[in-house]
Amino acid sequence: MPVTSRFAPSPTGRLHLGHAWSAIQAHDRAQGSGGRFLLRIEDIDGTRSRPEFVAGILEDLAWLGLDWEQPVVFQSARSDLYAAAIERLRGAGLLYPCFCTRAEIAASLAAPHGDGDPVYPGNCRHLASGERQRRMTGERYAWRLDMARAIASLAAKDSLVWHDELAGSVIATPEIHGDVILARKDAPASYHLAVTIDDAAQGVSHVVRGRDLFAATHVHRLLQALLGLPTPVYRHHALLTDGEGERLAKRNGAPTLAAMRAAGIDGRKLADDLRNGRLPIGFRLAGD
Ligand code: GLU
Repeated sequence: MPVTSRFAPSPTGRLHLGHAWSAIQAHDRAQGSGGRFLLRIEDIDGTRSRPEFVAGILEDLAWLGLDWEQPVVFQSARSDLYAAAIERLRGAGLLYPCFCTRAEIAASLAAPHGDGDPVYPGNCRHLASGERQRRMTGERYAWRLDMARAIASLAAKDSLVWHDELAGSVIATPEIHGDVILARKDAPASYHLAVTIDDAAQGVSHVVRGRDLFAATHVHRLLQALLGLPTPVYRHHALLTDGEGERLAKRNGAPTLAAMRAAGIDGRKLADDLRNGRLPIGFRLAGD
């Protein structure tokens, strides 16, 4: 079956080797089946996205020898689609406005938390409707999914299962994420909402992305059920790390693809080396 896959970077920095690894896998999964490889720029975060990083992404992918179907889709141009989904979920009584600041959420959490976003303690879930209305006229707010209600609203036939080509059959447990944000104070959609809607709208049959996003799929699977969208096949691949097993990230000094190119490295050869498991010195795959 021809596969439609995508690479969906956020233009908030230059790409590094981990991105190359992910893009190549998404590209090859489609190409090997005679399918389509799409590029989606996830620039919903207007404060952090920069046009020069978009240009850098196109250059880097071309340098690796990848080609993608035109046109490139930009999330910043798709706000109406996200707003319609918010309206639908709101109309079904599954969302509530949240006025909390990060500081307020941190202060009301009972226990200190580790990495990642803590589960929202629910401060705004039960505001009286008068107070809600009043604050909505004067304060900025996010829309949160009432997770318990959302799960309770599902029909028995909506079994929340997804298939991962590497992990097998997975039963989604979105409740571990609590009341997630679907529209932010400063953006028309959160990552969870935008990615779920776009993958369906673009006809993505296979979502190939890093294992760091495995847990997010619990939420995406629930949103598919709530919005009547198809569930793609997933492939959450192992992450490339540095020699100490640390995930590659700009903040821990991962070399950018731009720097590798400037150093005279041949991008197509690098891509073939990665495909054949020949990782540059100082890198390895998590779990190896
Ligand atoms: N935009 C996300 C990122 O850059 C990836 C989204 C996805 O592949 O689902 O981390």
